[in-house]
Amino acid sequence: MKLLDGKTALITGAARGIGEAIALKLAGEGANVAFTDLAMDDQFRATEAALQALGVKAKGYASNAALFADTQKVVEQVVADFGRVDILVNNAGITRDSLLMRMTEEQWDMVITVNLKSVFNFTKAVQPVMLRQRVGSIINLSSVVGVSGNAGQANYSASKAGIIGFTKSVAKELGSRNIRSNAIAPGFIETEMTAVLSDDVRKSWNEKIPLRRGGTPEEVANVVLFLGSDLSSYVTGQVLHVCGGMNT
Ligand code: NAP
Repeated sequence: MKLLDGKTALITGAARGIGEAIALKLAGEGANVAFTDLAMDDQFRATEAALQALGVKAKGYASNAALFADTQKVVEQVVADFGRVDILVNNAGITRDSLLMRMTEEQWDMVITVNLKSVFNFTKAVQPVMLRQRVGSIINLSSVVGVSGNAGQANYSASKAGIIGFTKSVAKELGSRNIRSNAIAPGFIETEMTAVLSDDVRKSWNEKIPLRRGGTPEEVANVVLFLGSDLSSYVTGQVLHVCGGMNT
């Protein structure tokens, strides 16, 4: 018996990076997995094939999580294909870093829409499904900088702080229906999002981290597994920091 046997997970932005690691982790524990990403490219198909190779039902959907109508259609399709959604992981996210003085309106709008509105879009579309089931776990990818702020990331930090407020509100609204809502605040995780950072920036990050290293996508995925499974059945409205002890 695996931790997630019989459950269906829906993960946004999961063709690569942390989302892919989450999809593989949940599938490895027996969950059927529906995932979205912007385009059905080679990476998308490789992730879909890797999930199917784990022996679960798995399907990818091309969708822009920032678009409300698009999201409604994708969730309808997922429910038609899988019949239920037990775990929703709002993972899709981008950065458009710049000091406020140089930040454009477009950089602000893009990050808020992709990172924060997408969480509203998917949670709203999945809510009726979870209400019918009378069970569900919603897991939102925030960030340590949503708690601490970060120079050069006013747009990103605001979007990730917004996710925390949203997560806690949804936990209060839906707790009585056995639907849980939690956020994860990763620190410095080694993915393509952080691969662009210089060695100097990387070194200074590592010095600030008590565990003296960046985290791996799998270390974030392990916490998603906990929050998605019944091991966390009395945990809701929380923000779990996965950051090697970094001060926030
Ligand atoms: P990543 O490697 O850049 O991957 C992001 C994924 O999201 C990609 O597959 C991307 O698709 C997809 N995506 C982007 N915009 C989308 C949209 N509008 N609709 C659907 N999918 C979209 O990022 P990551 O490092 O894995 O980060 C995953 C999440 O963790 C994000 O929310 C990020 O903010 C958060 N996080 C990351 C770190 C870190 O250190 N890496 C730290 C804290 C929080 P494409 O392949 O088409 O671009």
